[in-house]
Amino acid sequence: AKELGRNNYQFYSKEMTKKAMERVEIEKELRNAIQNEEFEVHFQPQISIKNESIIGVEALVRWMHPQKGMISPIKFIPLAEEIGVIESIDKIVMKKAMKSFVEIKQKGFDLGTLSLNVSMLQINKDNNFIKDLKQIIEDTKIDTTKIIIEITETQVMKDINKTIKILEEIRSLGMKIAIDDFGTGQSSLSYLKKLPINKIKIDQSFIRDLPQDKDDYELTKAIIAIAKSMNMNLIAEGVETKEQAELLLEEGCFEAQGYYYYKPLGIKALKQVIGLS
Ligand code: C2E
Ligand code: CA
Ligand code: CA
Ligand code: CA
Repeated sequence: AKELGRNNYQFYSKEMTKKAMERVEIEKELRNAIQNEEFEVHFQPQISIKNESIIGVEALVRWMHPQKGMISPIKFIPLAEEIGVIESIDKIVMKKAMKSFVEIKQKGFDLGTLSLNVSMLQINKDNNFIKDLKQIIEDTKIDTTKIIIEITETQVMKDINKTIKILEEIRSLGMKIAIDDFGTGQSSLSYLKKLPINKIKIDQSFIRDLPQDKDDYELTKAIIAIAKSMNMNLIAEGVETKEQAELLLEEGCFEAQGYYYYKPLGIKALKQVIGLS
């Protein structure tokens, strides 16, 4: 038994070393990617359910790795947050997204609003964020009233007082705030009421099994009621079927985003969709 334990230990230890080395490698690559701005922005249209017109786009980052190809944000955002480089990535994405958004507007197409995902983890720690944001706004000359900053419910609650301060600064620049993944964070409504937010995004986990799942149906209705009572705008994400869109409209949610309408699109594909190519 002793022998076995030892072999086992050696096995795990080898595995762990391999994992650790892989991590060191990807960490190095990620820092390098930031230096070289190896990130591309894709845009997923947001839709008015009633007439299916585009009322906005959400910017979603992709890592264009020179050897490995396109890497999804779920594969590197958590690591970027952990090692403290997420702010640099968000900055690159904001810059590129705003530039494309303004360019499309200048070519005569109004995309509506531009939603940007921003990690609150680092923002809480240092305040370069607002300074950088102001600089990008100045450089791109974007109309700030068209920008929606999306932050996740869980991150907001980490340090509510600091969060409120930063959100108020963002709003004082003319931008709006949306709570992403709403309903997944177990935060109390009295807490949420304190936040300066304009919009709620119903998380895709509530939409996925609609209309069959009765619990999700009830929760979705409850979230719509909350948004109404708090006087907030509302959008549902992860809408994949016509039935889901119809149900949302019936219950009073008028905006949606999801594969039923459009997947996230590269800038070329986006231009094609809106007839700009
Ligand atoms: P998120 O902000 O909740 O974005 C929605 C995700 O759902 C996107 O995944 C989108 O492609 C996907 N999606 C959209 N419609 C549908 C649908 O109908 N069905 C399904 N199953 N999925 C759908 P993506 O692009 O892989 O992004 C994953 C997450 O990475 C985002 O979740 C966001 O939290 C984070 N992220 C993306 N870009 C950025 C960024 O620039 N900065 C930061 N900090 N986070 C980002
Ligand atoms: Ca989002
Ligand atoms: Ca979300
Ligand atoms: Ca479900």
